[in-house]
Amino acid sequence: MSNKRTEQTVLLKKKAKELGFSACGIAAAHPLGAASIHLEKWVEKGYYAGMEYMSRNTEKRLDPSLLVEDTKSIISVALNYYPAQVLAEEQLQFSYYSYGKDYHVVMKQKLQALFDYIHEELLPIKGRVFCDTAPVLERYWAQQAGLGWIGKNTQLIIPGAGSYFFLGELFIDAAFDYDEPMQERCGTCQRCIDACPTNALEKPHLLNAATCLSYLTIEHRGEIAPEQQKTIRESIYGCDICLQKCPWNRFSTPSKVEEFTASEAFLAMQKEDWEKLTREEYQVLFKGSAVKRAKYEGLQRNIKALLSNRKKEE
Ligand code: SF4
Ligand code: SF4
Repeated sequence: MSNKRTEQTVLLKKKAKELGFSACGIAAAHPLGAASIHLEKWVEKGYYAGMEYMSRNTEKRLDPSLLVEDTKSIISVALNYYPAQVLAEEQLQFSYYSYGKDYHVVMKQKLQALFDYIHEELLPIKGRVFCDTAPVLERYWAQQAGLGWIGKNTQLIIPGAGSYFFLGELFIDAAFDYDEPMQERCGTCQRCIDACPTNALEKPHLLNAATCLSYLTIEHRGEIAPEQQKTIRESIYGCDICLQKCPWNRFSTPSKVEEFTASEAFLAMQKEDWEKLTREEYQVLFKGSAVKRAKYEGLQRNIKALLSNRKKEE
């Protein structure tokens, strides 16, 4: 461990903080080895549902040097998205991460700024930045980089801060001082598993996307099977139940990233507004938002399912 390397590690973490990241850690790149069995079994079972891309490029997911040649270090960062203001409880809900502007864009800019800083101010580097757009096991690397641990709900949990974070990575061909991987701290808790309305969390760390409301309301295309439609009761985009029930999320604090602030128009939406939402209104309301992933048709399908379920309950 050279002094120079330690100094560069300290400076890059300082820069990450200045850029607004809540956490930054570094892991030595390595093939996954025994840790890959979990992913291989998950793919074998077909638990990726319609997300075919999750079954492709498995070898790249399991060995970072196959994704980016000469990768020595993986720098992992976390960006807080916990909203300062949330939708009223009786309104149709959205997953918190979708409240503001598309995180891919915001995260990529910050990751690139960190990459440029390292390259221009610390040492010449080659590599790439990623945010949920390539075969990268981002939670695994965040755990390896000491940011947090992967909870039984499959989300990364940062001690003292919770899970409402976007993750991003820099794959770099230079070495730094490395952090220790974090051990799991869920203990005997299994509130997330007990609270999941569809039993998509079949056991600790095992999520069947085919029955998960997050998958069904965002990624799934076309009709949703009638039995599954019945489970859409709170949210028309995503599902945060297993996050909300996690005791570590009591430590969440509102994000300071301006782009993640929900617009007044979004927060003011009422049940009747969603019912009548036109394509044009949808375009304006979700301009530059990750909600576009579900498309107008998908959101309409979810709205109809939720309102029909609510009507039956009345
Ligand atoms: S997101 Fe919702 S449906 Fe999916 S595992 Fe969590 S609680 Fe279950
Ligand atoms: S709810 Fe409990 S078991 Fe689930 S992720 Fe949080 S701490 Fe772990």
